[in-house]
Amino acid sequence: MSANSTCSRTKMAEHVSEFHVECKDEESVRGWVSSEDGLRQVLEMHSIDTGCQFVSWHDNKNRKILPQNTGGRILWKHKDIPIHGYPFTIGRHIIRQCQYGKAHKRGQSKEKTLPDVHNYAKGQRFSLQPTRKIGCSAQIIIKYVFVHSEEQYCAQGIPEASRKRQEILRKISSRMQQDSNYRGEERIYVSLPLSAAHQHEISLESSLGNRINERIRKKNYEIVNSGITNVTIVKKILKSFVEAEFTNKEIRPSLFDRAFYPLSKDIKNHIHKAIASGKLSELDQENLRAKVDEWKKEEDCCRHFYFRPATEETEDTAGENFLFIHQEDWQRRLMKMYGNAVSLLDATYRTTKYNLPFFMVVVKMIHCLVLNNI
Ligand SMILES: [Zn+2]
Repeated sequence: MSANSTCSRTKMAEHVSEFHVECKDEESVRGWVSSEDGLRQVLEMHSIDTGCQFVSWHDNKNRKILPQNTGGRILWKHKDIPIHGYPFTIGRHIIRQCQYGKAHKRGQSKEKTLPDVHNYAKGQRFSLQPTRKIGCSAQIIIKYVFVHSEEQYCAQGIPEASRKRQEILRKISSRMQQDSNYRGEERIYVSLPLSAAHQHEISLESSLGNRINERIRKKNYEIVNSGITNVTIVKKILKSFVEAEFTNKEIRPSLFDRAFYPLSKDIKNHIHKAIASGKLSELDQENLRAKVDEWKKEEDCCRHFYFRPATEETEDTAGENFLFIHQEDWQRRLMKMYGNAVSLLDATYRTTKYNLPFFMVVVKMIHCLVLNNI
């Protein structure tokens, strides 16, 4: 596997043109990108290539904005950042750990200190399934770096700990104090683990348990918001989206990778979540009330509504059943013209999914029957 995967990973690095590879060894590829979009592409390609997923382990978001705000020192060298000759400041620092990495053991130290007075079970969640964590140490390390890359700050050939280097650092410090917008050159350094860095086998089968990719999840929401909720159709659209966005001649996601080719069950769950997120309330009648208010505010509203929500029976009041009546202007006109002779009340066969009867008032016109109001 190693020969093929090394070859493939070289292609992965080459594929993202923005990714400047600085060094490569058996266990990792290191390099930098200059934008968030480049970072997203590199992480996506790495995920497609390895079929591995990583979870957030550490992130100090607040240190990203300016080098002045990082509180960090200006450095000449760092083990993870191969910059030579130019000083730099490290900002935000993100660590993402392999999904089979260390298990979180929150609150354990606190429990140990408490005397075990009671014998009853502690209030911990009981898990039927064993954890998937096996302590894999593979990590993606992302560091936001501000490089002071102007020619005047270059110290190539100047010995370490010399006065000239200290002078350069003083210049940068005073500049950062005077110019509150000074940033330097922003680079995002990424260290990506290769298969040798994992302490478990990486196979096609292992990607069967992956969670859905974030961009595909958002696309699913977009499709649902456009009114399509049929699982088969959504699955086809997502498949063509993956082929357009994540596939090229060199690299394509494995058909077994559930992150890119989710199962019908996954799509169904996400459609349900997307529908639920678009609602104002968990209660359908509250959503309808909001919708009726919205319709009434429309300028050219030619509709009439009667809305009575269902209420529960209390000591003082009898509970009400749900009632919603909708009538258009043209229906009202025909009702006045023809409704005095014969009107029919037509109910649907069986009930709707809400277990509520659904009636239509039908009036006899000169030529035909017309559904009058609903
Ligand atoms: Zn791993």
